[in-house]
Amino acid sequence: MRLSGRELRLRAAEARRHYARCDLCAHLCGVDRRHGPAGVCQEDDGLSLAGAGVHYGEEPQLVPSGLILIAGCNLSCQSCETWSFSLERRGTVRTSAEQLAALLLDLEKSGAANANFVTPTHVLPVLLEALAVAAEHGWSLPVVWNCGGYESIEALRLLEGVVDVYLPDAKYGDDAVAYELSGCKRYTAALDRSLREMHRQAEVIVRHLVLPGAVASPGKLMPLIASVSPAICINVLSQYRPVYRAARFPVIARGVTAQEVSAAVEAARSAGLRNILVDGRPA
Ligand code: SF4
Repeated sequence: MRLSGRELRLRAAEARRHYARCDLCAHLCGVDRRHGPAGVCQEDDGLSLAGAGVHYGEEPQLVPSGLILIAGCNLSCQSCETWSFSLERRGTVRTSAEQLAALLLDLEKSGAANANFVTPTHVLPVLLEALAVAAEHGWSLPVVWNCGGYESIEALRLLEGVVDVYLPDAKYGDDAVAYELSGCKRYTAALDRSLREMHRQAEVIVRHLVLPGAVASPGKLMPLIASVSPAICINVLSQYRPVYRAARFPVIARGVTAQEVSAAVEAARSAGLRNILVDGRPA
């Protein structure tokens, strides 16, 4: 993080103004979130947390990572692994910027190498406020933005100089599938714009969760990522399980096979991507 506490306060104030006509993600809802839940994400202008702690299960270059699990999400994935707190907000705790700043200081003392905000974009202004308070108390860890890849340029510009590593998902290479399975319109164009802006600002590590039957279209997705930069690190994940509402969608109602994972890796190679991981290990 390259901004001072004072600069972060100014950035947070600028970000908070976006709640009045929210454009904090690629849905660009234009709603006023200051008076209660609104927009596709149905979030107000506060923050709820689902948990936090030092975590070793992230990409090797990021561990030990200070994970901060944020409630709510701007995507509505039918097979969301974290649906209980991301979509139904179960067991989550309303948290002020000052409380989150104290948590950031605790994570630093516990040996975390970074602050890894999981699903952060819809609460970006509160996170900047928390980072400002923490920075004023000497906190200085790198910031990892662990997001869905459906960001807006408006939001990403607010993060310039704040985020050290972007860790976006790249879910689909096909817009119709993205809309059906995650409720995102014009997904590939938004992903393309997001990745280019992230790459301009900071290091980018992309995650791709392989779905059954190539429904995520890796053959179209990997060239999109490679067109941003063939040096971008892509982590191909094999852990898909048909949880939450997946059983309602025959195309995603089973796990993936080893052949489907290999096909996604091959698609990444064929697209020219040079830095490929599979479940965090070099392919
Ligand atoms: S964060 Fe995204 S989904 Fe939520 S209100 Fe803003 S633009 Fe809409």
